[in-house]
Amino acid sequence: MKTILKWLMILGCCIGLFYGCIYAQEEHTQSSRILYLTFDDGPSEYTNELLDLLNKHHMKATFFMLDAEMQRNPEVVKRMINEGHAVGVHGVTHEKETFYCGVFGPVKEMDQANDTLQSISGQRTVLARTPYGSSPYLTKKQREALDSRHYILWDWNIDSRDWSYRNPQKTFNHTIKDLGKMQKDPKVILFHDIKSVIETMTLFIDWMEQNDYTSEAITSDLIPVKLWSKSKS
Ligand SMILES: [Zn+2]
Repeated sequence: MKTILKWLMILGCCIGLFYGCIYAQEEHTQSSRILYLTFDDGPSEYTNELLDLLNKHHMKATFFMLDAEMQRNPEVVKRMINEGHAVGVHGVTHEKETFYCGVFGPVKEMDQANDTLQSISGQRTVLARTPYGSSPYLTKKQREALDSRHYILWDWNIDSRDWSYRNPQKTFNHTIKDLGKMQKDPKVILFHDIKSVIETMTLFIDWMEQNDYTSEAITSDLIPVKLWSKSKS
């Protein structure tokens, strides 16, 4: 009797493990098919076309924008928000020496960009991306100052390198190669709102659809991707 019970228990554990694995796999498959496309340094003269492309394919994105570019293209900012994309701030000067100057340098620039966003759209954002990411230039004190103003810093874990390639095919090849290696979620891809963006995204969105990927806008309840680690801070 004892032996039967023992075997029944072992069988029960095996079944539990089997279904547990299937469930975990499904979870993994589901979450890994969501990408977070992010576009820095805009809005630009190319953003309207980019929004057309995203809309056509039911993709949502996140835009980390500069103060002057928002002022230059206020209608595009409103359009992003109306169409369900996420908006974040990326500062004013984009200059390493100015942006990272003093404990409150980054806060000052993010606040100024946020004031502009508010004057255009009537809303502020907590999403922020510092120029070149939150490492290596952002200091612990500057990060704490941004925290105290409730900014949520977002870096990326896949860099399309569009800015250095300036070539849609090379950017596309590099991005899908890096994406293939990325096992962690959320998968956040860095793109820039530059001339090559339309051609790059045409290639990339086609590929995404062929491979059952979709994209969503970043929300403030997601755990952000960070380039810095606590041990280094
Ligand atoms: Zn930038």
